[in-house]
Amino acid sequence: MQQLDALTREAVALAGGGPRVIPILSAPEAEVGRQMQICNACRYCEGFCAVFPAMTRRLEFGQADIHYLANLCHNCGACLHACQYAPPHEFAVNVPRAMAEVRGQTYADYAWPPALGRLYQRNGLTLSVALAAGLALFLMLAVALNGTLWGGRLEGNFYRLFPHNLLVGLFAPVFLFVVFALGKGVTRFWRELTPATSGAPLNAPAAGEATQAVLRLKYLDGGHGEGCHDEDDAYTLSRRRFHHFTFYGFLLCFAATSVATLYHYLFGWHAPYDLPSLPKLLGVVGGVSLMVGTAGLWRLNRRRHPLQGDASQKPMDLGFIALLFLTSASGLALWLGRGTPALALLLCLHLGAVMALFATLPYGKFAHGIFRTAALLRHAVEKRRPNPIGLGAD
Ligand code: SF4
Ligand code: SF4
Repeated sequence: MQQLDALTREAVALAGGGPRVIPILSAPEAEVGRQMQICNACRYCEGFCAVFPAMTRRLEFGQADIHYLANLCHNCGACLHACQYAPPHEFAVNVPRAMAEVRGQTYADYAWPPALGRLYQRNGLTLSVALAAGLALFLMLAVALNGTLWGGRLEGNFYRLFPHNLLVGLFAPVFLFVVFALGKGVTRFWRELTPATSGAPLNAPAAGEATQAVLRLKYLDGGHGEGCHDEDDAYTLSRRRFHHFTFYGFLLCFAATSVATLYHYLFGWHAPYDLPSLPKLLGVVGGVSLMVGTAGLWRLNRRRHPLQGDASQKPMDLGFIALLFLTSASGLALWLGRGTPALALLLCLHLGAVMALFATLPYGKFAHGIFRTAALLRHAVEKRRPNPIGLGAD
């Protein structure tokens, strides 16, 4: 019925001879459209997050609106546990799941190059761990052939094993590809969303508000500050806190690498660095934070109420969490084991984890942060414009 409706709309647009062809909605998109029509009549959840105020500015939900709303949703679960029309009600309203299904689809739809979009479906826990293990094994074999895998004379300096320039040559192209691929994807997403969200350009107040929402993970507070839902209808701030540990841990580790790069090229201060140098300080704090955050997110993910999300995306979520954990844990182990005969072995494990993380970054869960930030920016722009239908209030 929904497909028929979409086909009818497209036929009407074509018959009108207009230049704009209304795209046929996929089944998950049509389901979000159906649920938003119900929510727009109900509006009980208006204060929970950014999705509902954005919804009240619309009477119809086209593909761009649906992609926008799906990426605004933080999957906090609040509207599922509050909903009087949730299953087993015949309306079967389950906004978190419907939004999650479309979100997963948008990552693949906007992926660059498009042919690699299907990697999102394959990028699971097994593949992530197997890739990290395979790469680590390859490096171990290479090192073992030189007879230095255990107890080589490295004196804490792993650049004797893998020279600095070799590591830069390996990681820099992959890093640039990650930035380029994600940049291309999110640019397409932004271009599609802009006309659907007032068309107004980004401005400083909107950018400031969206940045604050991202940095504070505002929409994991349930709209009342008590938090979101995990395994049941009790409020909890755990997901928000573990996300913060993970997010800031990742940023600190990235900052550590950036500072080390500046030290190397700008000042000629070469690694290894140790405490209390700035790169090491940032790396240790970031690594511990990343381990705490990912361990917490893993536990929450396993206990999550099955109705709250899209079960088919769990392997992708867990794969990303696992790689972040392996990267931080092996990085810390490498530092702690710098004076031991295990240094070469630990280095191979760490490099294997980092390489696997980099390789899967553009086609895995990392995308959710990028796309959600873009949706929040568009929301902050849109809400500053007059409401086009003049019914709901922001
Ligand atoms: S999720 Fe349910 S309670 Fe909330 S606005 Fe939609 S229909 Fe109403
Ligand atoms: S799951 Fe949370 S963030 Fe998503 S629409 Fe419902 S209340 Fe909003």
